[in-house]
This record gives sequence, C-alpha cells and structure tokens, in this order.
Amino acid sequence: MKEFVLKNLYSFLGDQKAQLRIITFHDILSEDYQKFYDLIFYLKTKWNIISPNEFKKIINREKSKIDEKNVLISFDDAYKSQKIVTEKYLDPLNIKALFFIVSDFVKLNSKDEAHEFIRKNFFKFKNKNLKLNSQTKNMNIEDIKSLIQNGHTIGGHTKTHSQLSKIDDEKNLYQEIVASKDYLENNLENYKIEDFAYTFGDFESINKKSLKLILKNFNYLYTGLRGNNYKINSKIIRRDAINLKENFKVISAYINGYTDFMYKNKLEELEKW
Ligand SMILES: [Zn+2]
Repeated sequence: MKEFVLKNLYSFLGDQKAQLRIITFHDILSEDYQKFYDLIFYLKTKWNIISPNEFKKIINREKSKIDEKNVLISFDDAYKSQKIVTEKYLDPLNIKALFFIVSDFVKLNSKDEAHEFIRKNFFKFKNKNLKLNSQTKNMNIEDIKSLIQNGHTIGGHTKTHSQLSKIDDEKNLYQEIVASKDYLENNLENYKIEDFAYTFGDFESINKKSLKLILKNFNYLYTGLRGNNYKINSKIIRRDAINLKENFKVISAYINGYTDFMYKNKLEELEKW
C-alpha cells in the first residue's frame, strides 16, 4: 500500500514540469552491460534521449518547446568500457553522448599503470590496496578520436583527477584546468572543447577560484549535484550519477528528480560565486 501511494505521488510530482537532465556513468563492467542496456531501453521508451548539441540549444533558449522528459548521457574519467558500451548499445540507436576525459589517464599504455593511476587519483580516500577488476582500463587518444568521429562530444575532467578545492598553487590549478584542455585539443586535431566536469562533483570539491577559472576557459561547468537543468539561469549544470549496482527503483527516483531538493541550496550557492 505504502509503495503504491509513493509511486503515485512520485509520478504526480515527476510530471509537474519538463525535465532536462544528464545522467553520468563511470566504469561499466561486463556483468552490468545488460543493466546498462535495460536502462537505455527504458529511457528510449519513456524519455527523449538528447545529444549534447540539443542539450545546449535548450540551455541557451534557442529551442523553447521541449518534450516532457529529456535526458543526455555522459561518462566520466575515460574508462575503456565506456567506448565498448557506446559502440555496442548507443551507436546502433544513434544516441550521442558526452565524455569527460582525464588527460593524463588517456596517456597510459598498460593496465598496471591504469590501475595504479586509478588507485592514486580517482578516489577521495586513497586505498593503495584497492582491488580493481581485471577488465578495468583507460581509453587512449585513438579511442577518443574514434568517439569524435562517431559524433560524440568530448569535455575536460582535469589532468590528474585532483580535487580542485584543495589546490592552493595557481600553477597547479592552471595545469589541471587549462593545460589539460590544451593537451586534449592539440592531440585531437584541434577539436574545440567547451565542456568541463569538475572532479568528484560534490559541493566540497570546488571553490570560488577554481570555478572562476573554469568558467573563463569553458562554456559549461558540469557538477555532480542532482537537478533539473530546464530553465536554469547559469552555465552550472546539474547531473545525476548512476550506479548500476543500485536498484532500478532508486535510479528511477534520481532521474525523476525526487532527491533534487537535497542539492538545491548548494547549487544556488555555486551560482552566486
Ligand atoms: Zn571523475
């Protein structure tokens, strides 16, 4: 009974206004491919999956009439599995996604180096002994070129995945935000990057100084704070991190906006900076 009431309340709340959302994936292990596909299939049926370009048209008010529920797919960090699921599931459906790249990560040439890099840089709380799946590895520059060729969009996600709010040194901050972008652009045949997702994505991982440097060098700043991007008055973009290990009902609650209220104040604070 309780579940029935909640479900109806949720669908009522969720249908109140148009949705413009972004979902974010990290590494996707082969045991979760089916779940990834099921989620894409659900979105393809119930939502309108949009491209990065369509997303920006709506954000920039170049397109005013939109479908009820719109979602863009994004991937963080540049894991090899992201290219695999894109070729396997997204390309056949002509779905275009947005990939945020850690520029030092895509320079690595072996799985051991990739695992060492992940252990050292990808988690807030370091764990030298963290056991990583043997499938886990990085994309390289050639992989990224192929994504671009297939119509996908590339964005920056720092040089080494460091937490920007903890960097005091100006030169380091420049390396992580600007030099990292320059490296990618130069190695991707002068591809123009205008999107940047800051690492870890929570409120504590960014500060005024880094936010300003990002908005000076990129057109859009992507967070990990959940929310609806429809009719926002800034270039600070809300995103929903998706963990495929989570129950489908939980994932559905996120993308229908039921937890957005928890992030509202933090987003308003960032917009004031
Ligand atoms: Zn990341």
